[in-house]
Amino acid sequence: DPTPKTSARKPDSTRVLDRFSLDGKVALVTGASRGLGRAMAQALGEAGAAVAVTARGADGVHRAAEELRAQGIRAYGVRADVTDPADVDRMVAEVTRELGPVDVLVNNAGISVPGTALETPEESWREVLATNLDGVWRCSRAVAAGTNGMVERGSGTIVNIGSMSAMIVNQPRWQPPYLASKAAVHQLTKALAAEWAPHGIRVNALAPGYFLTEASPVDQPEYQQWCVEPAAMKRYGLPDELGPAVVFLASDASSFMTGSVVVIDGGFTLF
Ligand code: NDP
Repeated sequence: DPTPKTSARKPDSTRVLDRFSLDGKVALVTGASRGLGRAMAQALGEAGAAVAVTARGADGVHRAAEELRAQGIRAYGVRADVTDPADVDRMVAEVTRELGPVDVLVNNAGISVPGTALETPEESWREVLATNLDGVWRCSRAVAAGTNGMVERGSGTIVNIGSMSAMIVNQPRWQPPYLASKAAVHQLTKALAAEWAPHGIRVNALAPGYFLTEASPVDQPEYQQWCVEPAAMKRYGLPDELGPAVVFLASDASSFMTGSVVVIDGGFTLF
């Protein structure tokens, strides 16, 4: 039956904004104790999802969950390191037990280590790839597989946070492992999208340009020149400007999209 199994089937009875609703869904956001992950957890919660927030630091995780609950969002904090397979399995089991099976996974946890190729030690290369790439692979498989996983339920959405740095080289401090990891995340998005479409799972990526977070090197003299001036809009993004995009990709609003990489960069990559 080629008819899609989503609310988009009955456009006559569905107001367009209803398709963005995540009411009754469970969303898990990695790296959600601060920055873009925290802002996306907020947006998913405001769209109606129960939200699980995770990161390595327990304090940050529990603070984020508490802040969300204070706003009436059903939220649960679970400490987990995406580079650790046992942690990821425990995280998914705990979220499933506390909130229910994961409907929406946002693979956001990511790090960068500044330096040129010649300056970057072997351990830094490994650490960046282990977090930014292996973490996406591991968390995606963990929510897709097993009893009550997305494959068994025949539904789910995954949003990977890639970067415009997958497509261009504009890092004031170079960071080759970061650029390589994000390019791999974009292609992994497409591989999983193709493989899991028959199971009703959609996998897309967001490719942010420069957004202002604690990870932004705003104190560096070259930040304005490298990260702000080249953007058509001549500014950086604010974390809450990413929220609506993740709700779109996580919800039925994007019911015919899979394997897409959505660039959100204030016109940085136009030139
Ligand atoms: P931040 O450094 O502000 O936040 C990173 C988050 O990830 C924190 O919650 C951190 O918490 C968590 N984290 C780091 N390592 C791990 C790990 N191994 N396991 C679990 N959680 C982890 O980064 P941003 O918000 O700026 O970036 C978020 C994502 O967006 C990253 O993937 C980044 O590459 C991407 N991005 C950011 C851009 C920007 O301009 N800010 C531009 C393009 C992409 P803890 O340290 O406690 O684990």
